[in-house]
Amino acid sequence: MHFYDFGFDDDLLDGIDSMGYEYATPVQDQVIPAILDGRDVIAAAQTGTGKTAAFLLPVLQKLITQPHDHHKVNCVIIVPTRELAVQISQTLEGLAYYTDISSIAVYGGGDGNLFAQEKKALTKGADIVICTPGRMLAHLKMNYLKLDSVRYLVLDEADRMLDMGFYEDIMQIIGGMPKQRQNLLFSATMPQAIRKLAGTILKDPAEVNIAISKPAEKIKQGAYIVFDEQKIPVVKYILSQKPYSSVLIFCSSKQSVKQLTSDLKRAKLPAEQIHSDLEQAEREQVLLDFKSKKLKILVATDILSRGIDIEDIELVINYDVPHDGEDYIHRIGRTARAASTGEAITLITDKDQWKFQKIEKLMEKVVDKLPVPEQFGPTPAIRESRDGKGGAAGKGGSKKRYNKFKRK
Ligand code: AMP
Repeated sequence: MHFYDFGFDDDLLDGIDSMGYEYATPVQDQVIPAILDGRDVIAAAQTGTGKTAAFLLPVLQKLITQPHDHHKVNCVIIVPTRELAVQISQTLEGLAYYTDISSIAVYGGGDGNLFAQEKKALTKGADIVICTPGRMLAHLKMNYLKLDSVRYLVLDEADRMLDMGFYEDIMQIIGGMPKQRQNLLFSATMPQAIRKLAGTILKDPAEVNIAISKPAEKIKQGAYIVFDEQKIPVVKYILSQKPYSSVLIFCSSKQSVKQLTSDLKRAKLPAEQIHSDLEQAEREQVLLDFKSKKLKILVATDILSRGIDIEDIELVINYDVPHDGEDYIHRIGRTARAASTGEAITLITDKDQWKFQKIEKLMEKVVDKLPVPEQFGPTPAIRESRDGKGGAAGKGGSKKRYNKFKRK
């Protein structure tokens, strides 16, 4: 669905627009209407699916349209880690930028100064509080924070919170809230303990299970970790390794598409570009040439990552790490369609390593990091994943089932 179709307030639509979102992701398609309907929700959705906006947008919409006291806490979002609290807080700031909804993030660590700042902000009040359980309890125990106006409770990454032993803390925080409220629980996995927690907290919830896409097994995936200035030479190197007859290269910006295409052309490689600055007729011609194999190398923005069916692409190169896991899967899904096999190679700069780790987690697969030939000089070191569990899911490759949306 397009975001216009949810009936969001204009100020919220401006925020959505400024974040660059246009169409809802599958989890948003399913969760947003249920929350707007006033239902409790339990959703199996991992990071990378757009789950944050799936709960923030309808809660913001409700806060914008329903009269409430801005100096009381109306919504509490409980998360397992500081990093997630910061991330959600940033997304919230972006989405709520044009509205009068206020928020504060409350998470552990930092010095006494930070605690005092949080205390001051909490005493003043904020519409939405994003918190880690321990820190929130520490504030609650000091009695300047009241949760008796909370109408929306979000538990994000609930499975991780239980793994980290936060059950009691969460229950204590919830204990200070009115019984009449809307509860939203998000979890990557749905073990028995989560079902139990859901049974205690949620009332007749809408259940949302997002089928997580996995790339086809027959795609051979690899990645080079490189510095920015090594990207173009490495692309040329990749292209020189085999006589490829059909290569699609994805870049995240028009600028990179233009730059790379002109560099490849200068190196006498048969490359053309496609992006939104081209006239429709030009785009169609380039696509036609590529489909008919008259054109061997096509450099594209994400225009081409979804939907367009081109058979027999031998190699997909991600010149930049895509925005999220779904985009990655869509991009590399352009190769190895039908019965053929294909290759997908991603160039990862140092600062994009964490982004790629998130994608690996979503796929529950660590992509081979290929050695960059010595002629290109030193390359960035491979970083350990931030949670220390390696690039993949760190959950023993468990096979989870994601079924379709089911409302009870
Ligand atoms: P999340 O699963 O909430 O961590 O979101 C993953 C990434 O997708 C974040 O960088 C979001 O900003 C981005 N995102 C969320 N919803 C959309 C959307 N509808 N369109 C494009 N990007 C989105």
